[in-house]
Amino acid sequence: MSTAMAFPDFFQFHLPVRIVFGKGLSKDFSAELSSLGVSRAFLVTEKFLHTLKIPDRIRQALESAGVGIAGVFDEVVPNSEVGLCERGAEAARKAGADCIVAIGGGSSIDTAKAINLLLSEGGKLLDYQGAQTLTRPLKPLVAVPTTSGTGSEATMVAVINDPDSQSKISLVDRYLTPALAVLDPELTLTLPRRITAATGMDALTHAVEAYVDIESSPFSDALAAQAMRLVARYLSKAVIDGGDVEVRSALQIASTMAGVAFNHSMVGVIHGMAHALGGMCHVVHGEANAMMLPLGMEYNLEVRERKFAEIARFLGLDIRGKSDRDAGLEGIAFVRQLNQELHDLAGLPTRLSDVGVSRDRLPEVAALAMTDGSMFYNPRDVAEEDVLAMLERAH
Ligand code: NAD
Repeated sequence: MSTAMAFPDFFQFHLPVRIVFGKGLSKDFSAELSSLGVSRAFLVTEKFLHTLKIPDRIRQALESAGVGIAGVFDEVVPNSEVGLCERGAEAARKAGADCIVAIGGGSSIDTAKAINLLLSEGGKLLDYQGAQTLTRPLKPLVAVPTTSGTGSEATMVAVINDPDSQSKISLVDRYLTPALAVLDPELTLTLPRRITAATGMDALTHAVEAYVDIESSPFSDALAAQAMRLVARYLSKAVIDGGDVEVRSALQIASTMAGVAFNHSMVGVIHGMAHALGGMCHVVHGEANAMMLPLGMEYNLEVRERKFAEIARFLGLDIRGKSDRDAGLEGIAFVRQLNQELHDLAGLPTRLSDVGVSRDRLPEVAALAMTDGSMFYNPRDVAEEDVLAMLERAH
């Protein structure tokens, strides 16, 4: 492998979110809360998490820190939708909230971001589609993730389903970034095997795409590299023994690191396809990413051979004496093998046909994927026929 480094002409790194980590931290994060100066929290979560008593735990932590509960919106569903966010914002406004607390996976955190936006700015969510549409800060948002995958607790991105256009819309603005991310791996101990597998592969996809994208920088690279190491080393272990808090810690840290990485360099063709599969065919986000990841890596290999060789090293492979291309191919083979292992251990689907995607919809999925903002950041110019070919191979 060549040792020459090529740094970008310009990059910047800004991290507005304060990230705190601790086993059991979600029971008491009063010190971190006090710096926000808030007194009326509006909780955004999903009903299922009540059965695990997770929102109660956060509610108690808030109350013992002197923050009252203005209201609770627990209607979030996976891949939550535009109308639901608008209803949540109305409830938050009526409740007189001065901060939003998101409790849950990416769906809850993204819904909370959309609610926070509408709470301050009003109007319809679709008016804010796209990038950098806001001109002023919103109310402080506290994110308490209960999955380890999206990294949304540390990103300026919200992805919301728009049933009218059967697509996932992205809202991207620095003011959407949470003020505080509370990482407590204990909250992820209850994740079932298949969700552990899918969310872990989501984090790996963020890290890989962030590492090869056109806006990658030495700072995002460092975080992406460590996220890849952690996921490669611990994901199968977390699936096998979900009760091991050290392993869960590794994945939660990896997920947030990958989130910070892609928040700076963005994602690419794999996410473009995953968003279209989610919007049109309701494929679970992490599962779509897992299925498309090796194909997207192969697609980009020819324009980033050295970086894919480095990825192979981060994944734990011994690539000494190999050409960059051969090392990159080994990294891709590792990802395929990991997908297979997660299929055997947790039932992670390996084919689009396994999750109800019909073959005749693939041309529409490819066309929708081409309109996704992620495509702009992919290191190789993306052609629609190539996207269709990847989708067909994954079917
Ligand atoms: P999710 O939030 O939809 O949750 C998936 C499932 O996990 C749900 O059924 C939920 O009930 C369950 N769950 C959550 N926490 C649990 C726990 N502790 N124990 C047991 N079950 C639990 O899944 P996700 O993968 O975290 O989020 C996916 C969403 O995030 C998608 O809409 C995706 O597009 C979006 N996303 C956003 C970003 C971003 O930067 N904003 C990045 C990637 C993905």
